[in-house]
Amino acid sequence: MTASSKIPFLDLVTPHVELEEELVAVFRSALRTAGFIGGPSVEGLEKEFAAFCETRQCIAVSSGTDALRFALMAAGVKEGDVVVTVPMTFIATTEAITQSGARAVFVDADPRTYTMDPVKLKEFIEKQCSVENGKLMHKALRRPVTAVVPVHLYGQVADMDAILDLAAKHNLVVVEDACQAHGAEYFSKKQNRWMKAGSMGHAAAFSFYPGKNLGACGEGGATTTNDEAIAKQVRMLRDHGQSKKYYHDMEGYNGRLDSIQAGILRVKLPHLAEWNNKRRAAAERYNQLLAPMAGAITIPHQPNWSKSIYHIYAILTTEREKMMEQFNRAGIGVGIHYPIPVHLQTPYKALGYKEGDFPVSERIAAETLSLPMFPGLTAEQQKLVAECVSQFLAQPSGAPGVKR
Ligand SMILES: *Cc1c(COP(=O)(O)O)cnc(C)c1O
Repeated sequence: MTASSKIPFLDLVTPHVELEEELVAVFRSALRTAGFIGGPSVEGLEKEFAAFCETRQCIAVSSGTDALRFALMAAGVKEGDVVVTVPMTFIATTEAITQSGARAVFVDADPRTYTMDPVKLKEFIEKQCSVENGKLMHKALRRPVTAVVPVHLYGQVADMDAILDLAAKHNLVVVEDACQAHGAEYFSKKQNRWMKAGSMGHAAAFSFYPGKNLGACGEGGATTTNDEAIAKQVRMLRDHGQSKKYYHDMEGYNGRLDSIQAGILRVKLPHLAEWNNKRRAAAERYNQLLAPMAGAITIPHQPNWSKSIYHIYAILTTEREKMMEQFNRAGIGVGIHYPIPVHLQTPYKALGYKEGDFPVSERIAAETLSLPMFPGLTAEQQKLVAECVSQFLAQPSGAPGVKR
C-alpha cells in the first residue's frame, strides 16, 4: 500500500476547508463587534439546535460534560443521591454524575446494541432497591435513587420506551447522554413516531467537541429539554447562578459557550443532516463489505427502532491487538472506544466494583475496534479497510479462536 492510500480514522480538515470562508467570517465579525460572550450568535444557535432536536429549549454551554452535569443538577439530582448509568461509556458520563454530588451506580449494556439494557435496569430496581415512603432506595447504600442516564453510544439511541417506562414507574428523572448522537432517531412505540435523540428524557446533553458529528473549533456543548424549569435552572448554572447581571440566586459555574464557537456551530449545523446521512450510507457499505466475515467479527446491530448516526462504526474482534497492527501497517487509522469500562477505571475503584460485574460491557471494551468513519469516507477507501480485515482473517494466525 502506498502512502497516498493512507486512510485517516477521522478527517476533520476537509469539512473546515470547504466552509473556510464562512468560518473565518464568524471570527471576523466577532473581532469587529467584540461580541465574544453570549449575544445573538449564542441565542441563534440555541433556537436552531432546539429545532434540530425537536425540543422546546436548548441551552448552549461550554462542554458536553457541563451540559450533563447542569442537566442533572437542574433536574434535581443532589448530594447523596444515586444515579444509574452504564459502564460502557466515556468517563465524562460518570464525572457529571459524581460532580453533581451523586453516586454513580451501573447496570450492564445490551449485548447487541451496546446501550443500557432495560432488563438489567429492571433487575437492578427489583433486586437492589426497595421502596420506602414512596421513594426508591438503594438497599446497600441507603441512599435514594433519583435519576437514570442512558448513553446513546456510538450514535445509536438506547431503548428509551422501556427505560422511560421504568423511570416513570419509580419517579426517576431521565437525562440522556446524547453527546454522540446529534440527530439520531428512535421509534417510540408509545408515541407511535420517530423521535430525535435529546427529546425523550427530562433533559439531554450534547457535546460539540471537534470530533463529534457536530463539532466546534474548540469546546462546546448543549443541554436540551422540554421542561421550562430545567431550562431556566441550566441557564443560571452556566452563568454563576445569575438571574440578572450581578444578582446571584445561587452559586453557579462558568459554563458558557462563547459566541465564536456558537457562530461556527451555526455555520455547520445546516450540513449536519447531510453529514449524518453520508455516515449512514458509509455504514451500510461497511455492513455489506464485512457481511461475509460476520462469523469471525461482529458488525454493528441496528434494531428496526433505531436510526443511528454512526458517530463510531465499531466491530468486535477477539483478535483486536493483532488486527490493529495490520491496520497500522496498511496506513489505516482505527481507534478503541473504550478499552476499559468505567467501573474498572482507577478513580472508581472506591465504588467497589470488580472484573466480572458487568460481563457484557467488559467484553465490548475488550473487543471493540472503531473503523474509519466520517462523511467524506469513500467506497474505495472502505473497500481497502474491508480487504485489510479479510486479509487478516485469512492468515493462519488471524482466525479467531486459534491458539498460538
Ligand atoms: C464526548 C462525550 C462526553 C463529553 O463531552 P465533552 O464535550 O468532551 O465534555 C460525554 N459523554 C459521552 C458519551 C461523550 O462521547
